[in-house]
Amino acid sequence: MTEREVRVRFAPSPTGPLHIGGVRTALYNYLLARKLGGKMLLRIEDTDQNRFVPGAEEYILEALAWCGIVIDEGVGVGGPHAPYKQSERKPMYKQYADQLIADGHAYYAFDTPEELDAMRARLQAAKVPNPQYNSITRAQMRNSLTLPEDEVKALLDGGAQYVIRLKVPRKEEVRFQDLIRGWVVVHSSAIDDKVLMKSDGMPTYHLANIVDDHLMEISHVIRGEEWLPSAPLHVLLYRYLGWEKTMPQFAHLPLLLKPDGTGKLSKRDGDRLGFPVFPLEWHGIDGDTGEPTLSRGYREDGYLPEALVNFLAFLGWNPGSQQEIFSMDELIQAFSIERVSKSPAKFDQNKVKWFNEHYLRAKPNAELAPYLLEALHEHAIVCSPEKAEQIVGVMKERVSFPKDFWQEAKYFFQAPTEYDPAVVSKKWNAEVGAALTAYAAALPGAPAVSAEDLKTLFNDTMAAQGLKPGQVLQALRVAVTGAAAGPDLFETLVILGVPEVVERLRAAVVALG
Ligand code: GLU
Repeated sequence: MTEREVRVRFAPSPTGPLHIGGVRTALYNYLLARKLGGKMLLRIEDTDQNRFVPGAEEYILEALAWCGIVIDEGVGVGGPHAPYKQSERKPMYKQYADQLIADGHAYYAFDTPEELDAMRARLQAAKVPNPQYNSITRAQMRNSLTLPEDEVKALLDGGAQYVIRLKVPRKEEVRFQDLIRGWVVVHSSAIDDKVLMKSDGMPTYHLANIVDDHLMEISHVIRGEEWLPSAPLHVLLYRYLGWEKTMPQFAHLPLLLKPDGTGKLSKRDGDRLGFPVFPLEWHGIDGDTGEPTLSRGYREDGYLPEALVNFLAFLGWNPGSQQEIFSMDELIQAFSIERVSKSPAKFDQNKVKWFNEHYLRAKPNAELAPYLLEALHEHAIVCSPEKAEQIVGVMKERVSFPKDFWQEAKYFFQAPTEYDPAVVSKKWNAEVGAALTAYAAALPGAPAVSAEDLKTLFNDTMAAQGLKPGQVLQALRVAVTGAAAGPDLFETLVILGVPEVVERLRAAVVALG
């Protein structure tokens, strides 16, 4: 037998912005596809038209592209199984529901919403904890299993409203092997007779998902833990449709928890806990008030996609070594489903920031300079790209996000108007002021303007003043930048240039005495 081609899919529903948990699901699918030389598909599961949110599909595509998750086949790309959007595949599903009916695995149900409510009320009154339409209750309902054949035919011919339900057996063990969780065994009495086709002729998620995974020859279904309870039902569908032999392998990923471990990280947690839970910013509408809402995104908050990807990869997987920094290619090499954990992963906002700092520092200055140049442009400050590169070069060890460059590097463009009071009170006195005046006088004669030269000149000038450099260094920094801390001081002087430093020293002496 030839090895089965690895084909995985990410199958989001366009019901809003993609949560970072969804991005992790897409990422793990992508890593496995690339690792095993397979294909990554994107299918949009939009059979629930009531939950459709405009812009969500575009958001999904943009978010995946930003993260570097490349789709081989699917929405936005096309491929041999097009269309990849379920609403556009609507005519394909009915035949499979009909097949299930013909084979005795599904049935028509004509119950009205009132009849369904009455059934639930009856069961609740009888203290049934979880009333369901199932192998027991179906016997009391209006469906093609209880009604005479001619009545069923008359109802169908007369255009009566109906749904098609799966006939779940009463006493059967449904088992399947999950790649992450091992054997999962569920008794069929715990599964209800799920609706497969709705009265509007749309398939439900369950039917469409199985039909599409089969037709699209999906080999592995990798998805969030919230789908684990549906998996036994899906196994029954594969069996009843005669597709069990090619049923995909299942892998249900661990839950993502809030940072304190108290429950699932939800879409609302971002605003509450002060960090984004979405890859990109999302402009939405509040469901209750109808007011426009804005949810933060990693991209707009200044995270680099490499950092988010590296972080998400570790939320539920580890390489089994101490290495933490992985490029996408390295993740592809290292990834395996066997190393995905089944225990939930706690979100850690400090860790994602740590990854961001790492990736920011690893970037060449030329790639970071545009962030500073953009901010300078907004403030109508002219700066050469070379100078911007020098500045981000000395600042990148000190910032977490590209947007911090401007905030932290402002003093390269604006002479201080205030001086850190703690440094002034501790380090500034008349003697220090005189020493800095001497340094200002000596600077124009510096043999060359390198950090080393300016430092030597400083040490020599201080020695001539009878002071140790350490007594004056902090005062020098505060005089030139206004701040108590910053990058290498003499590098800073070089970037500022001697005339500017001299001017700032003189101004500080005037201001501070
Ligand atoms: N449409 C489902 C979702 O939104 C897909 C679940 C699956 O991967 O089977 O998550």
